[in-house]
Amino acid sequence: MAEQTIEHARPLTVLAEDEAIFRDSVRHFADAQVRPLVREMDEHAKIPRALVDQLFGLGVMGIEIPEAYGGAGASFFHAVLAVEEFSRVDPSIGVLVDVQNTLVVNAFMRWGSEDLKRRYLTRLASGAVGAYALSEAGSGSDAFALTTRARQDGDGYAVTGRKLWITNGNEADVFIVFATVNPEAGYRGITAFVVERGVPGFTVGKKEDKLGIRASSTCELMFEDCRVPAANVLGEVGKGYKTAIETLNEGRIGIGAQMVGLAAGALEHAIKYIKERKQFGKPIAEFQAVQHQIARAAVDVEAARLTVYNAARLRDAGKPFLTEAAICKIFSSEVAERVSSLAVNLFGGNGFVKEYPVEKLFRDAKIGQIYEGTSNLQLQTIAKQIIG
Ligand SMILES: Cc1cc2nc3c(=O)[nH]c(=O)nc-3n(C[C@H](O)[C@H](O)[C@H](O)COP(=O)(O)OP(=O)(O)OC[C@H]3O[C@@H](n4cnc5c(N)ncnc54)[C@H](O)[C@@H]3O)c2cc1C
Repeated sequence: MAEQTIEHARPLTVLAEDEAIFRDSVRHFADAQVRPLVREMDEHAKIPRALVDQLFGLGVMGIEIPEAYGGAGASFFHAVLAVEEFSRVDPSIGVLVDVQNTLVVNAFMRWGSEDLKRRYLTRLASGAVGAYALSEAGSGSDAFALTTRARQDGDGYAVTGRKLWITNGNEADVFIVFATVNPEAGYRGITAFVVERGVPGFTVGKKEDKLGIRASSTCELMFEDCRVPAANVLGEVGKGYKTAIETLNEGRIGIGAQMVGLAAGALEHAIKYIKERKQFGKPIAEFQAVQHQIARAAVDVEAARLTVYNAARLRDAGKPFLTEAAICKIFSSEVAERVSSLAVNLFGGNGFVKEYPVEKLFRDAKIGQIYEGTSNLQLQTIAKQIIG
């Protein structure tokens, strides 16, 4: 028994063969196909549709979707690896893949009826981008104070309200929208609906002009008596709060992965640069002060990656991971900010201009402490779990 346990215990960062093959294929694609587009996508604040189509072709938009529905039939951990690898090159692509897999696909897999799975998982695996619409102007951290209303309308619902900050809003075809069927019932009125782009009464509004992850679209959504059939309720009526909480608990691990990838990417850029840049007659990599800064950053990246992999592996093992997910998200986002800031410093003046890649990563890092629960909210979760 003891021997068996030892045989099965794998160091957190040692990947299974299929995980390593998958990670390498995403890394190769990110370096070859995404990297050349990063600056242009940031400048134009847009991801070309051709690239989105390539992501579907690569199989990274339906990682956990069972093969029967056309997906890759892989694990949550695979999704985390993909988000990390894309974010090493471009955190905007990282979050596109993240929302698709860890929030949208995840919600359909866990709460979708067989009918919804058949209708939507096949599309999400093959070309339809998904978005997850919870936040509103008046409800961010206090997500359950949402006011978007779903009134019973014949055998379906009529949804009216506005959502704000919705990632993938520009590209998405399928939206998971949280609305209340009964405002008096508080959080117990919240229900998740599946709404398709183009249905009457639903408009995608303005796209935000952002500090970072500029290529990732962040949009307002408007609903005006938008008719949604009862068959498009995801999960149970009045149980949308559970769907929201539970998917976000998992999604947060994906954001941790996005931030680890970003930090690792910034560190790689910095290491390359310090070996090339000469001052005082030698590469700045030869100054001990610089070596120690790089070593500190490596400590940060390694520690952050361990928290992310641990949370993801706990989730796949069906074990509790709430505290670990919050820890990985807050820590990785702090690491991303620190390491990308150091990379800017080590690039000197070149760190401050768009011709070099690190100023973008520094801007991109900031979002990690805001979306899918701000850092204060993560601390609140951790404190509640450990203090009681
Ligand atoms: C680029 C981007 C993409 C996004 N994508 C999506 C998406 O796809 N879907 C979606 O639904 N939402 C999305 N969001 C929304 C995001 O999740 C919210 O912005 C976030 O939850 C914070 O909410 P808020 O902006 O209303 O800030 P607020 O909740 O107003 O917070 C403001 C400040 O107050 C602090 N605070 C609030 N409450 C407490 C408390 N109880 N204790 C201590 N401090 C507190 C916060 O930590 C923060 O520092 C996105 C946001 C951005 C910027």
